Amino acid sequence: MSKQFGWWFFTCGNQVLVIPQGERIPYGDIEDLPLPELDFTQVERFASYKGEACLRLELSEAIDLGMGEWIDLRSSMSVLTGPLFNLVGKAQQFALFLKTHRFCGSCGEALERVDWELAMQCGHCGFRAYPRISPSIIVLISDGRKVLLANHRRHQKQEQPIYTAIAGFVEAGETLEQTVHREVHEETGIRVKNVSYWRSQPWAFPHSIMAAYFAEYDTGEVNIDRRELADAQWFDYSNLPHLPPTGTIARDMINHWLGQKTNE
Ligand SMILES: [Zn+2]
Repeated sequence: MSKQFGWWFFTCGNQVLVIPQGERIPYGDIEDLPLPELDFTQVERFASYKGEACLRLELSEAIDLGMGEWIDLRSSMSVLTGPLFNLVGKAQQFALFLKTHRFCGSCGEALERVDWELAMQCGHCGFRAYPRISPSIIVLISDGRKVLLANHRRHQKQEQPIYTAIAGFVEAGETLEQTVHREVHEETGIRVKNVSYWRSQPWAFPHSIMAAYFAEYDTGEVNIDRRELADAQWFDYSNLPHLPPTGTIARDMINHWLGQKTNE
């Protein structure tokens, strides 16, 4: 069965199975993988990678599969390539969507799986549900040699506090650019100008997509929102604090900006 050949994404809640070899995601024919008895009727093709099928199977327990180890999604960022990390996020979010959309949010009847796209449909009232995706923005603010980086309250307790770009969720009815201006002002008290879109990154914590922007300082004094941030400071590019890990769009943005500064 061609359906059983490809890249295997075994997930269990927020965990994924990785192997020590190659690209770290099991690859091959199901017959050749050293797997115990699993319910392969639940295997689903959900994407493709390098021209081959991506197959996912959500397990109810992180059992020993006879190969590799279970790691959490966040840790997988440091061992997988960017595209594979995004595919793990996709597999995990599909599984979560199916688990949390069993009943109609409108009339309460059981939902049924739509067979041609990833959705759940109510046969009673027609309501259709799709996996939730929450757009957010992340913005790196610079002023000449300096960049504004913030330490979030949730990172505060770490031994070496991480300083990163300003980020926040898009509210209903907002453009992404309006979100940039609102979040920057709410969290730091300053105003920015020359806001320009850079690129985006799906971010499965929990179900976001981050749109990254660069912006320049315009006016105001830094005055942080203490409910969100523990600190925010201007840092000279020659003397940056502890930064977010490689693989995050925040780190990519800081590296991109640094590359421009050092070439000036
Ligand atoms: Zn319904």
